[in-house]
Amino acid sequence: MNVLVINCGSSSLKFQLINAESEKVLAKGICERIGIDGSLTYQAADGEKIKTAKAMPTHTEAIQYVIDALTDTKTGVVKSLDEIGAVGHRLVHGGEKFASSVIITEEVKKAVEECNDLAPLHNPANLIGVNACEELMPGTTMVAVFDTAFHQTMPEKAYMYGLPYEYYEKYKVRRYGFHGTSHSFVSKRAAEIVGKPYDATKTIVCHLGNGASVCAVLNGKSVDTSMGMTPLEGLVMGTRSGDIDPAILEFLAKKENKDIEGLMKVLNKESGVQGVSGLSSDFRDLTNAAAEGNNRAQIALEVFSYRVAKYVGSYAAAMNGVDNIVFTAGIGENDDKVRAEVCSYLGYLGIEINEEANNTRGKEIELSTPDSKVRVFVIPTNEELAIARETLALVK
Ligand code: ADP
Repeated sequence: MNVLVINCGSSSLKFQLINAESEKVLAKGICERIGIDGSLTYQAADGEKIKTAKAMPTHTEAIQYVIDALTDTKTGVVKSLDEIGAVGHRLVHGGEKFASSVIITEEVKKAVEECNDLAPLHNPANLIGVNACEELMPGTTMVAVFDTAFHQTMPEKAYMYGLPYEYYEKYKVRRYGFHGTSHSFVSKRAAEIVGKPYDATKTIVCHLGNGASVCAVLNGKSVDTSMGMTPLEGLVMGTRSGDIDPAILEFLAKKENKDIEGLMKVLNKESGVQGVSGLSSDFRDLTNAAAEGNNRAQIALEVFSYRVAKYVGSYAAAMNGVDNIVFTAGIGENDDKVRAEVCSYLGYLGIEINEEANNTRGKEIELSTPDSKVRVFVIPTNEELAIARETLALVK
């Protein structure tokens, strides 16, 4: 069965058409600047990448262009919509309502809407994508795959904040975690590689992309993760601050004469390695600048890796040990220096890294030596494939 995977944001929509049995990507692309002017970038497997300007006042036009491209007689990969068996949608926040993927019904959409408060930028946009697909592909099964679902197994002690309990009762203020699809995908793969049952392994996943989080996966279940009620908590990221002393907000509000919106913009968009370096959120730029002697770029890189190492250490404590550590996502898959720096803090766990293995990019590889007490891997994440698998499992 072919599954159309949709990741819909407020002004962009990424898609992949995947044959769920062979797991081959038949075509992929992105619609950008929806509601502004609009463009479609489309690439069939083995075909050229084609970018065309298209008027996209709403997401419905965007999806229509995607369908047109997929069924086009020249560049298309299917003859008609009948060859698309289901659509898998990435939804960001499922709150406490969704601990796994579900087939989308009117009730499911209502329940997702009730989580809008928790992800005001993402959930409404995700739902617009669902509605547009329903309009243009009536009768096709739609599945929701949530970023938060994998972490619903976290115990209370990991998800409760040290805040008055009534905020949890009234508003569901608690830790949820994100990147669940990725953490689940790569931790499963790690168990496969080491040849142990998934439900008998202790794995720590470092998903290090522009947004970044660490997850403790104990016996196949997420027991803790570094992002919280929102993706702002935890690691120092591309432009997000991660953990800070909350009292800094009051201090800066007074000093800089900023309101809460202004401060949230600073924490989300102007902080992280971008804020510390004053240069870039991209690790390639930072590594180059640091090599040329840029001190703040160097500090930003050190702050980033140190925070990752601290989370890995705390999750080894939380699970009373660790069998596998996995690096994934843009930085985790590509940046050998960050990986080496993080591992340099973990000698006490008996970790030994093979430098030559670490000197590779973007492919699955074991970094640890045969003597290492913990096995360390790079495993490329593939959230679209994970969504296609979840979708197939529900539709079958
Ligand atoms: P997201 O999905 O959160 O936008 P990605 O997982 O795509 O993020 O990661 C993007 C980041 O990966 C970039 O900002 C960059 O810092 C880093 N990155 C990508 N390629 C490389 C590379 N070759 N070397 C170092 N860092 C890289």
